[in-house]
Amino acid sequence: TQQIHIIGGGLAGSEAAWQLAEAGVKVRLSEMRGSGEMTPAHQTDGLAELVCSNSFRSDDAEHNAVGLLHAEMRALGSLIMASADLHKVPAGSALAVDRDGFSEGVTARLAAHPNIEIVRERIDALPASGPTIVATGPLTAMGLAESIGAATGADALAFFDAIAPIVHRDSIDMEVAWFASRWDKGDGKDYINCPMTKEQYLAFHQGLLDGEKTEFREWEKDTPYFEGCIPIEVMAERGVDTLRYGPMKPVGLDDPRTGRWPYAVVQLRQDNALGTLWNMVGFQTKLKYAEQVRLFRTIPGLEKAEFARLGGLHRNTFINSPQLLDRTLRLRKAPHIRFAGQITGCEGYVESASIGLLAGRFAAAELLGTELVPPPPETALGALLGHITGGAEAESYQPMNVNFGLFPPVEGKAKKANRKRLYTLRAEAALNQWLGREAPAPAEEEKEDA
Ligand code: FAD
Repeated sequence: TQQIHIIGGGLAGSEAAWQLAEAGVKVRLSEMRGSGEMTPAHQTDGLAELVCSNSFRSDDAEHNAVGLLHAEMRALGSLIMASADLHKVPAGSALAVDRDGFSEGVTARLAAHPNIEIVRERIDALPASGPTIVATGPLTAMGLAESIGAATGADALAFFDAIAPIVHRDSIDMEVAWFASRWDKGDGKDYINCPMTKEQYLAFHQGLLDGEKTEFREWEKDTPYFEGCIPIEVMAERGVDTLRYGPMKPVGLDDPRTGRWPYAVVQLRQDNALGTLWNMVGFQTKLKYAEQVRLFRTIPGLEKAEFARLGGLHRNTFINSPQLLDRTLRLRKAPHIRFAGQITGCEGYVESASIGLLAGRFAAAELLGTELVPPPPETALGALLGHITGGAEAESYQPMNVNFGLFPPVEGKAKKANRKRLYTLRAEAALNQWLGREAPAPAEEEKEDA
């Protein structure tokens, strides 16, 4: 019989173990919790513990990308979805679960599976040989993280998720801001620029210094963080001109209203394929949310800005997957190793589990000598996988939830709600076609937990 080693029994590792075991592969599942170890966010020894919210977000498979992902995972016999459905609690159109029942359900099903051995142990280095899936999550223990850094190159491993605020395009005042790239390079539409006078810049700089910030948690303080993700207010503390020579550099940006470079500029870069969302370049921050809204609305052109997401910075171990992984989640340099879950740079419980599901299926196919083509990009699974393994820009790779912006655009004009339905109808057809080519997993019966 074929065997595989899975490191990490969280959302992704548990799902990968299930998929492999169901396909007939023997699994050794190593989980450090239960051996006297704990991560800074987990509280139990249960597999697939939900570290924060108890929500799997929208369960609407017709109008929501994560709801669609739920449906696709159910169609592929997902253990995580089966346990979530079994332990569901009322939450409107969202899927929320009883966290203890959910985790205990997953743990019991895995423990009872004849092909799975659960070992409570911490792994401190990537195995030199033998098929392996690394699913150790955003809080991967440091020893293993260092080993991953050594195998991938330190630049390709991040310890922080640096989120710059994202603004709805239609809330930006284009009477003040303008489209342009520095020195008129690119196609002229690459950036939206918000100009600042000296007075405005100095007031803004002071606002950054005075603004109320969230503290790093105790366990985040010891984590190394790189120049590439320094919070904007920390840059401001380094000197009054640091920002003007950094992310707010006005050089090469003629303001069409004055014909001159402003004193400083805030640049926004397109953030989704549709061009509806734009991120504030270099503006990752630990400022409190209310403070961000207040201060960023003092930027000329952003007085009425609506934020799709505010900035943040938190501990999150993830690798530069577009650069490092092949289409089936194998480390190019050491193809006996696959990565799965949040460490690949997806974000969220459901996304992590779904990448675990795919890693499990790819590994099973490889070990059993069959071929598994990746799911098509029109499906939620394929769109997310595509983002991780090649769709995203390697230089600016940041963790992402599944969203319709990752799908190939649907052509033609349609109202927002109708457009979403077009995406999901297309996805459903694509998944069915893909499943037709593959042997579908045995239907996951909704049986009671062992
Ligand atoms: P995990 O579920 O973390 O599983 C990794 C497992 O590997 C853990 O059980 C860990 O103990 C084990 N492990 C680590 N290192 C080793 C080692 N060296 N040897 C053996 N075992 C090891 N997502 C949401 O959708 N909603 C939220 O509310 C949410 N809140 C979050 C809050 C915090 C503080 C963090 C850090 C993340 C949060 N996330 C949330 C993001 C993410 O979806 C979850 O972290 C999710 O659990 C990731 O799944 P995973 O399987 O990749 O990792």
